[in-house]
Amino acid sequence: MRYGILSDVHGNLEALDATIEALTSDRIDVFVCLGDIVGYGPDPNECLERIWSLTSEVIAGNHDHAAVGRLDLATFNHNAAEAALWTMQRLTRTGRHYLSELPLTFRHGEVLAVHAAPSHPERWPYLLSPEQVASEFRSFPEDTRVCFVGHTHTPAFFEHTHETGCRRVRLSDRPVRFERRCIVNAGSVGQPRDGDPRAAYVVYDTDTGEIEIKRVCYDLQTTQKKMRRAGLPEMLAARLGQGR
Ligand code: ZN
Repeated sequence: MRYGILSDVHGNLEALDATIEALTSDRIDVFVCLGDIVGYGPDPNECLERIWSLTSEVIAGNHDHAAVGRLDLATFNHNAAEAALWTMQRLTRTGRHYLSELPLTFRHGEVLAVHAAPSHPERWPYLLSPEQVASEFRSFPEDTRVCFVGHTHTPAFFEHTHETGCRRVRLSDRPVRFERRCIVNAGSVGQPRDGDPRAAYVVYDTDTGEIEIKRVCYDLQTTQKKMRRAGLPEMLAARLGQGR
């Protein structure tokens, strides 16, 4: 079975289309979307339509909840809150209904997926270091081998160890074959923050046990142009070019 994992699309249609196109040659059996389909970007409704025609395996992110009034915007920084309000005013009724109904977790065989953290999906904590990730391994069953997360917009691979609880596995452009339980951050399709502006996504093959974090270029100038035309905060448009 081959999984295609997408996270944090954030209303960036150009990045999403480039990712879906790249995944068509990857022989994917199940697509999973880890949430934050909307927020920040200029095409929330179009991205929702793409996602719901791609897969029914979709979970909610904090920006999805914010866009339907389920999360207090006081928890967001100024630019994120402004973009969330912009999104809220533009969502179609169908889009709003769809986002309100999304679950917080996805489980399929040995695979678990949450937007932020398996211990408290509804609190949206940021898992950045092996120390923060270590205790997360106790929050889901031993027979769940892989937990996919998003939220930080930074691809990362954390492996369970008996000695320290968790270690970070160095990423390269080759697949990682994992032997122990792991928590994998799929990065972000629509607003990467690891210094690489290309869209990020993951392919997981359960037969080979290989997980690959992949990147694809997209036409980010078009997305930036749309954001500026829409009056979204300039900082949000500029950061796409830096991948920060
Ligand atoms: Zn996000």
